[in-house]
Amino acid sequence: MSKLLNEVLSANAQYAADFDKGDLPMPPGRQFAVLTCMDARLDPAKYAGLAEGDAHVIRNAGGRASDDAIRSLVISYKLLGTREWFVIHHTNCGMETFTDDIMRGLLASSLQTASVDASGWHDSGAGPGSTEGNYIDWLTIKDNPTSVVEDVQRIRNHPLVPGHIPIYGYIYDVKTGKLEEIPEATAAGKPR
Ligand SMILES: [Zn+2]
Repeated sequence: MSKLLNEVLSANAQYAADFDKGDLPMPPGRQFAVLTCMDARLDPAKYAGLAEGDAHVIRNAGGRASDDAIRSLVISYKLLGTREWFVIHHTNCGMETFTDDIMRGLLASSLQTASVDASGWHDSGAGPGSTEGNYIDWLTIKDNPTSVVEDVQRIRNHPLVPGHIPIYGYIYDVKTGKLEEIPEATAAGKPR
């Protein structure tokens, strides 16, 4: 068994040994949802004070309002009753370090893990790669506050999202652990 697999399964055995939350209802008890980045430094349960059963946490690269993130948010309110949403991007996000063209080029070059240095991303070139990356919008980030505003606006304006749900826009600071509001995003996400 891989060392990592072993570690995960033994951590889970410990978690399950004194688990006492088997009777929680499916709908989130605190009736809210968070859309945030998958970055390993972010722990929404800790930075937002969540316990099991409290809230929906939807994560993807960048915390972007992709079609699939919106699919989850629509299920979150329509079937499971959430009433307030947060879009939380963060400082030093990896999504700021590349563009669609860069990602597509790296993938076309090989499927090995790329490396990064001061001059940017580099691929081993060991091939074979794939041009399938050309068909994906990688939803990269050029300017973090702008991306939060755009994502809140996209969710706000989506025909399947009701006007009464407030959407708050924040950036989590990986240096301080603080959530900093992006007032323009929260204004864009105001209920209407
Ligand atoms: Zn990120």
